[in-house]
Amino acid sequence: IFISFEGIDGAGKSSHVDALAQALRGQGRTVTVTREPGGTPLAEKLRALALHEPMDPLTEALLMFAARRDHLQQVIAPALDRGEVVLCDRFTDATFAYQGGGRGFDEAVLAQLERWVQQRPDGTLRQPDLTLLFEIAPTVAAQRLASARLPDRFESQPVAFFEAVAQGYARRVQGAPGRFACIAGDQPREAVWAAVQAAVRGRGW
Ligand code: C5P
Repeated sequence: IFISFEGIDGAGKSSHVDALAQALRGQGRTVTVTREPGGTPLAEKLRALALHEPMDPLTEALLMFAARRDHLQQVIAPALDRGEVVLCDRFTDATFAYQGGGRGFDEAVLAQLERWVQQRPDGTLRQPDLTLLFEIAPTVAAQRLASARLPDRFESQPVAFFEAVAQGYARRVQGAPGRFACIAGDQPREAVWAAVQAAVRGRGW
C-alpha cells in the first residue's frame, strides 16, 4: 500500500504522516515513512540543490524527477514489493503543483518525465494507491509560513504563487479523482486526523 501526503505549504500534512504510521504499526503492519524530494542519500543532496540554488524550471523539474527515480528504485519499490506500507510526504503531484502550477512549467513535459521515471516493466505507471490532499486557503498558507521557520525559496512566495500551486493540485485531482481524498486542513487537528483515518479505513485498510 502506497500512500502519499500532499498540499500547499503550511497545510499541516507532515504531522499526520507520523500519526498514521503509528496507527498502522499498531495494527501490526510494517510501515516505511519517507519524503520527497529526498528519501535516499543521493535524493537528499538533490533536494538541497533544488530547494536552495537558483535554476531554470527545466533543471528544477529534472532534479525533482532524478531524486524521485533514485527514491523509487532504492526505497519505495523494494518496500512495496515486500508488502509493506509506504507513507510518502509529497510525491509526483507536488511536482505538477509546484513546478507546473507554481512555476508555470509545461505540464505535458512533466507528464512525459512521470512516465519515464514511474513506468513499470509491464507498462503501467507506479502511482500512490491513495493520496491525502490537505487543503487550506492560499492566504492562510502564506500567513502561516511568514510566521514560521526560515523559508526555502519556494516558501518565501506571494499568495498568488500558492494559489497557482493549489490550482496545480486541483488539476491532478480532476485527472485521477479516485486516487485522492481531499481533507480540509483548516479544521481543528483532531478533526483533520479523523478525516485521515476515515480515508484510510474507507479503502478497507
Ligand atoms: O513538504 P516539505 O516542506 O518538505 O517541502 C519542502 C519544499 O519543497 C516546499 O517548500 C515545497 O514547496 C517544495 N517542493 C517543490 N517541488 C516539489 C516538492 C516540494 O517545490 N516537487
